[in-house]
Amino acid sequence: NKEDYQNKIFYYDDKIRELKYWEQRLSGELDNAINDNQLKVYLQEQCDGDGKVIGAEALIRWIHPTEGLMPPYRFIPMFEKNGLISKVDLFVWKEAAKLLKKWQNEGNDEYYISVNISPADFYFLDIYKELVRIVEKYEINPAKLKLEITETLIMKDVESRLMIVEKLRDFGFTVEMDDFGSGYSSLNMLKDISVDVLKLDMGFLYKTKDEEKSRKIIGMIVQLSKALDMPVICEGVETKSQFEFLKNIKCDYFQGYLFAKPVSIEDFENKNL
Ligand code: C2E
Ligand code: CA
Ligand code: CA
Ligand code: CA
Repeated sequence: NKEDYQNKIFYYDDKIRELKYWEQRLSGELDNAINDNQLKVYLQEQCDGDGKVIGAEALIRWIHPTEGLMPPYRFIPMFEKNGLISKVDLFVWKEAAKLLKKWQNEGNDEYYISVNISPADFYFLDIYKELVRIVEKYEINPAKLKLEITETLIMKDVESRLMIVEKLRDFGFTVEMDDFGSGYSSLNMLKDISVDVLKLDMGFLYKTKDEEKSRKIIGMIVQLSKALDMPVICEGVETKSQFEFLKNIKCDYFQGYLFAKPVSIEDFENKNL
């Protein structure tokens, strides 16, 4: 028994050491990965109630030489802790702007692109300055670059972050509150922060046996956002029945596997341009 216990301790020690090593390795590789085109922006369609594509969310993938295609959960949480996420996000914002410019030049200016802003970016970047610089460099309409922000209560400087969001909206960016209803991003935030769109994740609300109850909660959130004049986009829409329900309660926009999975830029263009 004692031996068992000791083995376990060694085992966990090893695991922690492995994890630390892995984190350091990936962090050290990031700059080179960006220069080496290992980071790829994928796009996932966002649709209106008729299923017509209106834009896309940019989601990062790392095509790692030895690990293969790495989804964000394998590196984003760690980069949010050590601040490297700001390099990833800057890269994604630029890629999105470049693409918008290219589409614009080709006469395809109907789509917008949504990009993610990590809470950590507010610490590690002058978000306003960077985004304005990007818009000016690529000569794009800021309204075409949607910014998905998530709230966390752990963050300090709530006031200054609210001001940054205000400035971004004044400049012409559309700001979306991502993952609304999950974690800290909740009702309480709405009284302090003004955003243009609420984004609701079906996943969180459907991870329960009581679907009826979830639907009531979703219904109330949509009503609330209507009362506050905010359109709602629902993500994680996987089934027709979810889509029908959401349309019935007047949800405005939709994103999810029912419409399309995140795909490479090339695949998105082939399908939608
Ligand atoms: P998110 O911003 O909430 O993005 C939506 C996630 O849900 C994406 O996962 C997407 O592939 C997935 N998804 C879309 N439709 C469905 C569906 O119908 N069913 C299910 N089960 N999932 C669906 P992904 O691409 O793995 O990204 C995960 C998270 O990683 C994102 O969640 C976001 O928080 C973060 N992330 C991804 N790219 C970036 C980025 O460039 N910057 C930052 N800061 N975070 C990113
Ligand atoms: Ca998002
Ligand atoms: Ca989300
Ligand atoms: Ca999420």
